[in-house]
Amino acid sequence: MESRLWRKGGAMLPDPAHLAALDAADPLAHARARFRLPPDLVYLDGNSLGPLPASLPGRMAAAVAQEWGEGLIRSWNEAGWIDLPVQLGAAIAPIVGAEPAAVVACDSVSINLFKLASAALAMRPGRRTILMEADDFPTDAYVMQGLAGLADVQVRRVPRAHLLAALDGDVALLLLAHVHYVSGAVHDMAAMSAAATSAGALSLWDLSHSAGALALALDADGADFAVGCGYKYLNGGPGAPAFAYMARRHWQAAEPALTGWMGHAAPFDFAGDYVPAPGARRLLTGTPPILAMRALEAGIGCFDGIPLADAEAKSRQLVQLFARYAQGLPGVTVADPGPGRHGAHLIIRHPAARRVMAALIARGVIGDMRPPDVMRFGFPALTTRYADIGTALAALASVLRSGEWQDARFAPRGMVS
Ligand SMILES: *Cc1c(COP(=O)(O)O)cnc(C)c1O
Repeated sequence: MESRLWRKGGAMLPDPAHLAALDAADPLAHARARFRLPPDLVYLDGNSLGPLPASLPGRMAAAVAQEWGEGLIRSWNEAGWIDLPVQLGAAIAPIVGAEPAAVVACDSVSINLFKLASAALAMRPGRRTILMEADDFPTDAYVMQGLAGLADVQVRRVPRAHLLAALDGDVALLLLAHVHYVSGAVHDMAAMSAAATSAGALSLWDLSHSAGALALALDADGADFAVGCGYKYLNGGPGAPAFAYMARRHWQAAEPALTGWMGHAAPFDFAGDYVPAPGARRLLTGTPPILAMRALEAGIGCFDGIPLADAEAKSRQLVQLFARYAQGLPGVTVADPGPGRHGAHLIIRHPAARRVMAALIARGVIGDMRPPDVMRFGFPALTTRYADIGTALAALASVLRSGEWQDARFAPRGMVS
């Protein structure tokens, strides 16, 4: 029944034999075994919550039973708990193109944004503007708005095309998401960082939708600061610790306003006054969540031996394939991802996006939606098979052509967003 539908009408679906050949030739195909995924699901939401690393339950069980249960407080030293933020930062560093000591794993993206932006403002006294892109992820703007109230600066949000013109002598900080969370558009990190530098400003990159998805080169591209997410492409589990990056040239001058004892030069001296730790370690605040750190460690470990350039190339091919075939489906608008760099996710617009996504999820194909009309699909290279594209497109075609999304079962319920 379904295959007959494919052949009639203009919209074709990819040839399963072609997809199978792509999977057979995929140098990253082996990485999927590093995860536990339900066999009958097509999971296209790893950009929002990465899947469970296969090694994670065992590592967590050991951390609970041995490190905590038996080692108790001795584990801060004997199991290396105290070093985990720095050690995991060093493990994340090659994924984002940074030297190991420039990255620490800690807190959330939101909190790390505050820390780095406050440091940047203090390094550019007299400048009163934080410049960002108009429709970037809300928390980035919210955090900057809160900080702006404290620091007496303004947050200026302009469309992407106006960013360069807005980089004037009043800008202290340029905050950009490297990959846009909706469109998947990618900024040229080297060019925008250089533009910030020549305007006398500092750059802060949000890598939430690029760390683990694209090949990054923070050091080489001249980024000043960066933050990134642990639970998306890094597969660290729900609410995983985030990470923060500080270029070596700022290790002396940058003084984040959120100063806690774990970022002190000598936390266990219990001294009366704050003295920042050397380098990126000063970005740490309070006691690290060790169990969550162990989970993140398992997530990062899934990237062992994976060239990020290969991951980016594979995700781009998946995005392009999906876009090409989705274009012919009824009622949807698909933005052409274009031939250049693009994030590892794609959006498709449909006026009833929430209902269509609910119907799709009921068929075992999981993406997500953003109001009012955006369906978002992620194609992480470590876990997505080319065949998944075929399965997802077939399900989407079926949902759209049958009109089953109009069924009362798929009425808006809030939980799908
Ligand atoms: C996911 C995401 C965040 C998440 O911030 P948290 O503080 O970890 O909740 C922030 N910024 C962007 C661009 C994101 O995509």
